[in-house]
Amino acid sequence: MNRWLEHARYAFSTLVLRRQTPYLFGMVVTDVCNLDCFYCESKNSGGYHYSLNQALRTLDDAYSRGHRSLYFTGGEPMLWQDAGKDLEFLVEHARRLGFGDIFIFTNGTLPLDIAGCSYIVTIDGPQEVHDRIRSGSYEQVIDNVRHALTPAVFASITFNRENVAFCEQFVAEISSLQLFRGISFNLLTHWPEIVASHGIAGEERIQLLDLLWRLKGEGYPIALSRAAYRALRSNRWKRPIPQIELGTRDRVFMCCRDVDNPEVCATCGYANCVEVSQILALKPSALWQVMRLTT
Ligand code: SF4
Repeated sequence: MNRWLEHARYAFSTLVLRRQTPYLFGMVVTDVCNLDCFYCESKNSGGYHYSLNQALRTLDDAYSRGHRSLYFTGGEPMLWQDAGKDLEFLVEHARRLGFGDIFIFTNGTLPLDIAGCSYIVTIDGPQEVHDRIRSGSYEQVIDNVRHALTPAVFASITFNRENVAFCEQFVAEISSLQLFRGISFNLLTHWPEIVASHGIAGEERIQLLDLLWRLKGEGYPIALSRAAYRALRSNRWKRPIPQIELGTRDRVFMCCRDVDNPEVCATCGYANCVEVSQILALKPSALWQVMRLTT
């Protein structure tokens, strides 16, 4: 179905029928990763690799439940393989089913050579800081972005104590490359004791959000709607989000893998999730932003 018709169908179902229609499906295709970022819990645990058949069935089920937007994550999803197939095969299968927006969250160390999807590439700061956190991979990542099959590539940073002081430098540096369609971000989301030692909390969190909002006002391509900025700043938004699901080999979670941990949800800093909450609340600035970034 045409994407605009899909949007209209979704709005009707949400506004008129008041249904909680599924909106976004994420899939942890593998936990295998070739980097070793200190804040990532999910890498190389041995518990998350999909077989080909499970992956196809999961995509089919998600589509029949009503999802039309999809993202692949990991580990490093570009490393996923099974039964002689790779991620490109899953992307093609999802396209054939009818998924409209397909995103791959990647560390960018492998060629971005799959067509028919957008990439969200983690860059964890200006070159020196990124290289410290992400095993000296900056040059390789930027080279892969330069040669990506699609212009739909976004940079994404996870703000933590190591990189927060470099926010402004990072935004200027990434924007000057003119390789990315936008810059998205997360605030390190974890157990309270990990956030206390490595994350951004309290007044520092507010100052960071204010800085990002100011940079956006100055014209930098930061993916942050006014509604999401306000919701994140006040930490007032409805969560978890039943219209988002995350599939792993053994379970489909509502919202994300931390849904059973209210202490984690209480200070959730997954900005994309907050954006979705504002889209579902039909906030004009969030709707406008998603249309602009995905068309
Ligand atoms: S931490 Fe909670 S609110 Fe945030 S994405 Fe995960 S489940 Fe949703």
